[in-house]
Amino acid sequence: MGSSVGRRRKRYKKIQLLRPPRRLPTIFECPNCGARMLSVELDKKQKNDRGEILAKVKCGHCGLYTEMWVPQIFQAVDVYSKFLDAYLEGTIEYKILKAEESTSSQALEELMAASKTTIEGEEEEGTEGGKTS
Ligand SMILES: [Zn+2]
Repeated sequence: MGSSVGRRRKRYKKIQLLRPPRRLPTIFECPNCGARMLSVELDKKQKNDRGEILAKVKCGHCGLYTEMWVPQIFQAVDVYSKFLDAYLEGTIEYKILKAEESTSSQALEELMAASKTTIEGEEEEGTEGGKTS
């Protein structure tokens, strides 16, 4: 009894297509690996001298990551097309982050925060035999 040594909570990786409410799509197809897991994040807190904001592009599949300065009016889709052009022309520097657990769990948390989905829902523990007719 009580053999819960080093027991860790494991989150099951449920891949769900979450649609962020009232937001333009921020997930695109990755030109590097082809997976539709390329996310674009606009960090409006970071501005440069020209009033541009920092856009972060990262792929949740192959780990491609890059940052670029874009005009404030840019939406994620604009960033993506600009990134795609630069990528295809080879005029952009990017790095491949190794897919580590921390990265994926962070992405998961972001997703969860965005959708406010409760994963720890009350699961019925298979007590379905209480019904008699
Ligand atoms: Zn990729």
